[in-house]
Amino acid sequence: MNEISTTDIHELEARERKAVVQVMLSLVIACVFLDTGFFIFYYVTDAIIRYTVMEYIIVRVLAPFSVNLLSYLVAVIVNEKCDVSEKTRTYVCCFSLLTIAGSMAFFHSFFLALLCGPALCMTFSTIFHDRSLMVFELLYCLLILFFAGLWIVAERPEDAYYYIQQIFVAMCITLLFSLVCFSMEAYSNSVVAVVRTSNTMQEEYKERLDVDFLTGVFSRSYFQAEAVKMLERATAENPVTFAVIDIDNFKSVNDTYGHENGDEVLVTLGKLMKDYNSYKCLTGRYGGEEFVFIFEGDDAKTHRRTLEEIRECFSLQHYSFMDRTVTFSCGMITIYQPENFESVFAKADQNLYISKGKGKNCVTA
Ligand code: GH3
Ligand code: MG
Ligand code: MG
Repeated sequence: MNEISTTDIHELEARERKAVVQVMLSLVIACVFLDTGFFIFYYVTDAIIRYTVMEYIIVRVLAPFSVNLLSYLVAVIVNEKCDVSEKTRTYVCCFSLLTIAGSMAFFHSFFLALLCGPALCMTFSTIFHDRSLMVFELLYCLLILFFAGLWIVAERPEDAYYYIQQIFVAMCITLLFSLVCFSMEAYSNSVVAVVRTSNTMQEEYKERLDVDFLTGVFSRSYFQAEAVKMLERATAENPVTFAVIDIDNFKSVNDTYGHENGDEVLVTLGKLMKDYNSYKCLTGRYGGEEFVFIFEGDDAKTHRRTLEEIRECFSLQHYSFMDRTVTFSCGMITIYQPENFESVFAKADQNLYISKGKGKNCVTA
């Protein structure tokens, strides 16, 4: 696939972590306002029981605020530090969020809804696709609930039975959330696998379209698309040479030795030409036993020398099925300013015609 790079994923995760840190700040502010609001309400209505006013402020307002603020600050510092791994940042971020939700559950465990807060935050971490993180978070949530249970039962022993039931329900809900997290994770893994397979197939199809299956040089469509760009870049300093190559008397090879052996000749030429593929030289099969070549940079003399080198090398090839050699003829044209593909091809083809007329096995410029 045009694989999503690790850097891209890290960028996405960093964005999510940033969002979580912002949510944490909102939670810290909301909690301190709510806790203060509750305190004022209970104070005014004279409903503070079990605690003195000072104890209430410490236990129900200052303690949760300190825990929340500390969690938030730890998350901010770890996220800004450069020498910390991505994994550490994610873990610290998720656990800080859980701690804030956990402190609400712990300090206000008489509200069943708050006991489920950590579980809700736990589901969020599925976006990081880390199963170990999910397991640790589940254990952390259960631990928070356990201690919240111990505290509320110690504080209100007369309602112990009721609170044990509540904690039990909260633990069941947390486990249920956890199951949802794991199935969401499994589902997104399957989706990723499907996307990967589909992208790999697309790549393979594209490669099949770009490369000639028999000879390994570029296909006509790919070559032409790239050649058009090269021809547009032609200047006096960057001459572009276009060449058409046609195997000589190929029909007689086919007729005498069969089509399959004829293919072997094409494969041999393909192998020879393919070696010249580079960022400034492209080789392609235009059709049948006709090949094309395009060079940019260097000069026309160097381009011609290269073509002569290939021509000579091809003419010296031996084949297992015959004791004669095969040659090709070539027509080339060098341009020094942008020109369209069709006219360049026509000029090179004319030179090829001249090569054939001159007795074949030669290059005409
Ligand atoms: P010339 O020197 O004038 O080019 O003569 P030629 O025989 O090479 O020219 P012609 O165009 O008459 O023959 C081309 C032959 O190439 C005809 C066709 O059967 C053969 N050919 C085209 N594509 C393929 C292929 O994929 N495999 C094989 N084995 N032969 C092919
Ligand atoms: Mg031909
Ligand atoms: Mg031919």
